[in-house]
Amino acid sequence: MIIAVASGKGGTGKTTVSVNLARVFGNGVQLLDCDVEAPNAHLFLRGDLLVEETVNIRIPEVNSQLCNGCGDCSDFCEFNAVVTIAKSAMVFPELCHACGGCETVCRKNAIREADSRIGTVQTINAGDITLVHGRLDVGISSASPLVEAVKRRIQPELHAILDAPPGTSCPAVATLRKSDYVVLVTEPTPFGLHDLKLAVAMVRQMGIPFGVVVNRYGIGDDRVHLYCGRENIPLLLEIPDDRRIAEAYSRGETIVDVLPAYLGLFTQLRDSLLYRAD
Ligand code: SF4
Ligand code: SF4
Repeated sequence: MIIAVASGKGGTGKTTVSVNLARVFGNGVQLLDCDVEAPNAHLFLRGDLLVEETVNIRIPEVNSQLCNGCGDCSDFCEFNAVVTIAKSAMVFPELCHACGGCETVCRKNAIREADSRIGTVQTINAGDITLVHGRLDVGISSASPLVEAVKRRIQPELHAILDAPPGTSCPAVATLRKSDYVVLVTEPTPFGLHDLKLAVAMVRQMGIPFGVVVNRYGIGDDRVHLYCGRENIPLLLEIPDDRRIAEAYSRGETIVDVLPAYLGLFTQLRDSLLYRAD
């Protein structure tokens, strides 16, 4: 089963839910930190580095001897990553999404692809949990290929928990794709509700079943709860606004390890997800 943990914005407690959920799954679970621009699950799940792999994407290069400046490649590229200037094509690698389309449409065979490094993927043995996390190189703007590289490490025989990047942009969509269930983490505030609605729209469009975890329950108001009720969205868990949780977070500790009273809550969440995704 593949469970993605996502949120409409950062700072809602998405990683807190991901790592604590992984802790209560016990043996045989993978946690894949797909927030490759700011991975932080490893701060809570320390372990031994098993392997670090470099991830490359294929970026086009133009052979100016063959290029006749026809413009077919720049017309095709919806990311404006290749432009035709003065009868020759020019590639801007930082904008390229490595789709390979420009090479396909070039009738002069003037484009070939070459490896370009975008980051690394580390696999860490953290006790019962295998943690996989990607780290995007500085200056690389396209995170989705690295998210895909992290997801290629999913082992089908294990449960997988994906910690998605915040928001509803391409890397978040790339993370959620092919998940069995999505957990949307939010806070009971007007801002939380606003971003939750965006995340709900994304997940509904993708056709993936989902439910909501309300973090810092007790602050704000009841509009998130009313919204979920109106929209028939399952409320999976409420995590109280507890100063001890924030303190544990700041020390890099998991809630279920240092606050045993919360073990039952996350165990219930696990059981609920196993039932819903079945
Ligand atoms: S499609 Fe090929 S020949 Fe035409 S501008 Fe692009 S690289 Fe040059
Ligand atoms: S590989 Fe795709 S994104 Fe990159 S320049 Fe070519 S068409 Fe554009």
